[in-house]
Amino acid sequence: MIPYIILAAAFLVALYFIFRKPKAKQPVDAATVASDRQLLLEHVAYYQKLEPDARLKFEALLQDFLSYVRIEGVGLTPDPLDRLLVACSAIIPVFGFGHWKYQNLSSVVLYPDTFNQEFQFEGGERNILGMVGTGYMNGQMVLSHSALLQGFSVSAGKENTAIHEFVHLLDKSDGATDGIPENLMPHQYIIPWVKMIHQEISKIEHGHSDINPYAVTNEAEFFAVVSEYFFEKPDQFKEKHPELYQILAETFLQDPVKKEVL
Ligand SMILES: [Zn+2]
Repeated sequence: MIPYIILAAAFLVALYFIFRKPKAKQPVDAATVASDRQLLLEHVAYYQKLEPDARLKFEALLQDFLSYVRIEGVGLTPDPLDRLLVACSAIIPVFGFGHWKYQNLSSVVLYPDTFNQEFQFEGGERNILGMVGTGYMNGQMVLSHSALLQGFSVSAGKENTAIHEFVHLLDKSDGATDGIPENLMPHQYIIPWVKMIHQEISKIEHGHSDINPYAVTNEAEFFAVVSEYFFEKPDQFKEKHPELYQILAETFLQDPVKKEVL
């Protein structure tokens, strides 16, 4: 027979797990909120264009993202602006989804500048600006710090490396980084989308497109490159590529030209 003392102890342990308070989130103090807002207003055009209600929602999503993803640096210490810009790059593509958790990400590591396949950022051939980790690097994203800042500068044009990498993560969320985000894109668009990718790649190859030629690498790079353009220069993208714009708007559930969440 089980001694009563063990039963009583088991009962108390059960009570503890049933009634314990959920772990409180780190409160963000008012001064930090105010200085974060100032940084967002100064550096993030996407945030500047949001209505007041949407800004609050955006801020809450940034904090939520930063509560489960660590922002680290190799050869540098990330400052508050770096942390915010990484979080903005994560939230901009998913802002139309209400709430999206990046299941496949635990940390973003900032390198001072470009790096190579061995993650060296000094000497030799280095041309990588950002990368989503695979294998032993699974769950990590590596970003060039200078590319992160450049993506949010006024001279960024249609490029934003960090948004590009987060779009790869969204693409990967259905199990394959293949340029076809099956769990996000409305099903009826998938076949037209693949057709459009190949038509546009051919135009780029013949010098008849203003899309960054890196997009011809493969379908996954095409999706990430046109998504950067979609979020960075939506008016220009819609005017030059109305069909691609329409599909991306219905995939990301956002119409950045009308500044609307769909
Ligand atoms: Zn890429």
